[in-house]
Amino acid sequence: MNIPIKSSSPSEVLCSNCKACCCRLEVMIISDTGVPEEFILRDQYGGETMKRLDDGWCAALDRETLMCTIYENRPWICREFEMGSYECIDERVKYL
Ligand code: SF4
Ligand code: SF4
Repeated sequence: MNIPIKSSSPSEVLCSNCKACCCRLEVMIISDTGVPEEFILRDQYGGETMKRLDDGWCAALDRETLMCTIYENRPWICREFEMGSYECIDERVKYL
């Protein structure tokens, strides 16, 4: 998610020409990668997800740069989310 890659063609599917669309998804935290407490939401059963703010984006997203502020500690699901994948393109068409 949101890996900066430079390109001259905005029609290509790249994080650098995206609005961090995938960072609006619900992100479950299923392993300990060191996500800071302030970004974690816990349900009544102890399930953990990334907190989202009223604008819909993950609380850990920098609103100015649209970059992840906890990149080294981002959840496993964020690491696995592949730029250009079906899921990625599916999110982009909703917001771009
Ligand atoms: S939706 Fe795709 S292109 Fe956009 S930030 Fe996520 S992985 Fe990158
Ligand atoms: S932790 Fe980072 S990469 Fe994952 S949804 Fe939040 S801002 Fe995006």
